[in-house]
Amino acid sequence: MKRFYIETFGCQMNVHDSEKVIGTLEQKGYVQVHSPEQADLVLYNTCSIRDKAEQKVFQRLNENRRAKGKVFGVLGCVAQQEGEKIFEKAPHVRLVVGSASYPRLGDLLVQIEQGGGRAAGLSLDTDATFETPATRRDNPYRAYITIIEGCDKHCAYCVVPFTRGRERSRRWESVLEEARTLAGMGYTEIQLLGQNVNSYRDPENPERTFAGLLEAAAQTPGIRRVRFTTSHPRDFGRDIVDVIDRNETVCNMVHLPVQSGSTRVLAAMQRQYTRDEYMRRVEWLKGSPRNIALSTDIIVGFPGETEEDFRETLRLLEEVEYDQVFSFKYSVRPNTPAQKMGDHIPEEEKSRRLAELQEKQRNIQLRRNSGQIGTVQEVLVEGLNRSTGQWIGRTTQNRVLNFVTPPRAGGSVPGREEMFGRYLPVRVTRAGPNSLAGECVIAV
Ligand code: SF4
Repeated sequence: MKRFYIETFGCQMNVHDSEKVIGTLEQKGYVQVHSPEQADLVLYNTCSIRDKAEQKVFQRLNENRRAKGKVFGVLGCVAQQEGEKIFEKAPHVRLVVGSASYPRLGDLLVQIEQGGGRAAGLSLDTDATFETPATRRDNPYRAYITIIEGCDKHCAYCVVPFTRGRERSRRWESVLEEARTLAGMGYTEIQLLGQNVNSYRDPENPERTFAGLLEAAAQTPGIRRVRFTTSHPRDFGRDIVDVIDRNETVCNMVHLPVQSGSTRVLAAMQRQYTRDEYMRRVEWLKGSPRNIALSTDIIVGFPGETEEDFRETLRLLEEVEYDQVFSFKYSVRPNTPAQKMGDHIPEEEKSRRLAELQEKQRNIQLRRNSGQIGTVQEVLVEGLNRSTGQWIGRTTQNRVLNFVTPPRAGGSVPGREEMFGRYLPVRVTRAGPNSLAGECVIAV
């Protein structure tokens, strides 16, 4: 019996890729174990969005360099970025596979099993997407569905086009069939995934765009919630807001990465939109009757970013009042146009800007969340906080709402199997910058 261990770093795309890798390996008779010590095959599904993420995998490999009789494999973005150099850096590694080569993973493993040597899958020249009937999902309530892989945008700081290749959309029917299958398995929430979901085009009929696919997915019987990530402002059309307005099943929450509030920096980042063009999309979203929550990504310290550019980003936070911001310091990445740009901002200055931005956003989030107090929100129950005894729910706006249930006659409390996966109305009674607290308004 072949046992495998997999550790995943990075984004939701990587998490879902690992779910498909696990399914593929189980189909080949492998059994998943939960420590590298127990495993015959040790895999790291890697992220190279920032240098720190990349260093983590080499640290892991170094920790295991003396392990005997195991096959070590590096998957994902660092695999594609570093390629066969990994065999030199970590000679005990025998498998290196980029995400565009996952459809060949099974064959590459057979190659190692039979030949005993090394194997690499590093071609980006493909129109294929990683589709497998065998996906082992960890979350029993919310399921990811990849609709597009790769990216053609080439933002100046980003490695994704070099590590995941050009954009490749999945067939319309294949996506909807997976949504129907998931509904049949009892899933009620699906999340459409892609580096840039807005540029989705059905390969069999390019007239069919992301907005249409979103609406079709929202009409899948049994599916109560549809989310999607990640959007790109340049491709984010008014038609997407119209679909959200028309379909209650589409969650009233949009993640629209802006990266900077300065048009000058956006141009240097090759983001292909200006601050004004971005704000137009914010107006569409803020003007919707569905009270759409908005989150974003921001990079501080991009080469050449002046104090005034940074101030423009802080002003954008005040103007938009995001419900959530994921903010990072600029990290130099290999092969990217920005790598060749000079004028790098000192690390301590980046840290100062990040701290100021996060402090400002923390106050905005506290204000936004406080606005929820007194309202009743429908949550999908996803967990239990043992230490506080509170249930963990998620609203349609993707806010975490920790709540208690009314006492039962006789004092018994509901069990996890009774609660997990249920949709319950919860009144918000308290708010923090990152979550809400409340009480369920019906007996359970
Ligand atoms: S849109 Fe830009 S930041 Fe996003 S994955 Fe593509 S190149 Fe990277």
